[in-house]
Amino acid sequence: MTAFTDSDRAALADAARTIDESGMVPGAAGNLSLRRGDRMLITPRGADLGKIDPLDLVDVSLADGSTSPDHDRDSRASSESALHRAVYAAAGEGEDAVVHTHAHYATVVGTLVDELPPIHYAIAAFGGAVRVAPYETFGTPALADAVGAALQDRTAALMSNHGAVVTGRDPRQAVAKAITLEWVASVYYHAIASGREPRLLDADDLAAVVEQIKAIDYKIAA
Ligand SMILES: [Zn+2]
Repeated sequence: MTAFTDSDRAALADAARTIDESGMVPGAAGNLSLRRGDRMLITPRGADLGKIDPLDLVDVSLADGSTSPDHDRDSRASSESALHRAVYAAAGEGEDAVVHTHAHYATVVGTLVDELPPIHYAIAAFGGAVRVAPYETFGTPALADAVGAALQDRTAALMSNHGAVVTGRDPRQAVAKAITLEWVASVYYHAIASGREPRLLDADDLAAVVEQIKAIDYKIAA
């Protein structure tokens, strides 16, 4: 029995289409997943994210990465399946969707600094400054470990010379946050490209943003 309903499959396929349309996955490089209990549903290896058949999405065990015996399509789990499993292991309670992209500015900034600093209050959506995980070869356990470590107390990480990972409570929110992360990275890139030192927010500023979100029940990146 699969842990995933038809509406889970439709939601993940819809999110993949939105990511494809956003331009953040050049050359079909990117993948998304959704967690239920000890399993995840993930986009297929080499898939065109704009045209995913929901039944080609692959149901994978989080414990050992094995594909469900009920999977009756030829599709195979994304080559970054181990990365997604490590992200769920590091993610907080309720962070049940993962988006991995090769978004332009996130990738550029990931080659320049060790963290994306708080240049805009929207970075509060990720828990603060977004760390850059050191470079490791794609699809390897070393990359999965590096990204898992960078996600400590955060819902996003940049990946040096590679891309970005974002978590969310569901695929729709994870996609919205991936778009926000790319925008914050673009603001930072253009600020430092000016040749001047950008003014940054401090921990008190970010704490006040979190309080204000609670006070007005604002659904950040909803
Ligand atoms: Zn990648």
